[in-house]
Amino acid sequence: MVRLECPVCEEEIELEAPEHGEIIECSWCGSKLMVRRIGKQWLLEVAEEEESHEKEEWL
Ligand SMILES: [Zn+2]
Repeated sequence: MVRLECPVCEEEIELEAPEHGEIIECSWCGSKLMVRRIGKQWLLEVAEEEESHEKEEWL
Protein backbone atom coordinates (compact mmCIF):
# COMPACT_ATOMS: atom_id res chain seq x y z
CA MET A 1 0.00 0.00 0.00
CA VAL A 2 1.37 3.36 -1.03
CA ARG A 3 0.02 6.66 0.15
CA LEU A 4 0.18 9.54 -2.25
CA GLU A 5 -1.01 13.07 -2.17
CA CYS A 6 -3.15 14.46 -4.92
CA PRO A 7 -1.35 17.55 -6.28
CA VAL A 8 -4.67 19.16 -7.12
CA CYS A 9 -6.78 18.83 -3.98
CA GLU A 10 -4.04 17.64 -1.61
CA GLU A 11 -6.11 14.76 -0.36
CA GLU A 12 -4.48 11.47 0.36
CA ILE A 13 -4.86 8.67 -2.15
CA GLU A 14 -4.00 5.08 -1.36
CA LEU A 15 -2.85 2.75 -4.08
CA GLU A 16 -2.49 -0.98 -3.64
CA ALA A 17 0.11 -1.50 -6.31
CA PRO A 18 1.08 1.64 -8.16
CA GLU A 19 2.83 1.37 -11.47
CA HIS A 20 5.09 3.96 -13.00
CA GLY A 21 3.31 5.76 -15.77
CA GLU A 22 -0.12 4.62 -14.68
CA ILE A 23 -2.93 7.13 -15.03
CA ILE A 24 -5.31 7.19 -12.12
CA GLU A 25 -8.22 9.34 -11.21
CA CYS A 26 -8.33 11.10 -7.90
CA SER A 27 -11.33 9.79 -6.02
CA TRP A 28 -11.73 13.17 -4.32
CA CYS A 29 -11.53 15.71 -7.12
CA GLY A 30 -11.59 13.50 -10.20
CA SER A 31 -8.34 14.82 -11.62
CA LYS A 32 -6.37 12.56 -13.87
CA LEU A 33 -3.03 11.88 -12.32
CA MET A 34 0.03 10.08 -13.53
CA VAL A 35 1.94 7.88 -11.14
CA ARG A 36 5.66 8.46 -11.21
CA ARG A 37 8.41 6.75 -9.36
CA ILE A 38 11.53 8.64 -8.47
CA GLY A 39 13.96 6.44 -6.64
CA LYS A 40 11.91 4.90 -3.86
CA GLN A 41 9.46 7.73 -3.82
CA TRP A 42 6.12 7.67 -5.54
CA LEU A 43 4.67 10.88 -6.84
CA LEU A 44 1.51 11.96 -8.50
CA GLU A 45 1.53 14.43 -11.32
CA VAL A 46 -1.35 16.02 -13.08
CA ALA A 47 -1.75 14.13 -16.31
CA GLU A 48 -2.10 16.46 -19.22
CA GLU A 49 -4.93 15.50 -21.41
CA GLU A 50 -3.54 14.83 -24.78
CA GLU A 51 -5.53 16.25 -27.55
CA SER A 52 -5.38 14.33 -30.73
CA HIS A 53 -5.67 17.42 -32.83
CA GLU A 54 -3.05 19.78 -31.63
CA LYS A 55 -2.48 22.88 -33.57
CA GLU A 56 0.28 22.43 -36.01
CA GLU A 57 1.41 25.69 -37.33
CA TRP A 58 4.57 25.03 -39.21
CA LEU A 59 3.90 27.27 -42.13
ZN1 LIG B 1 -7.62 15.26 -5.95
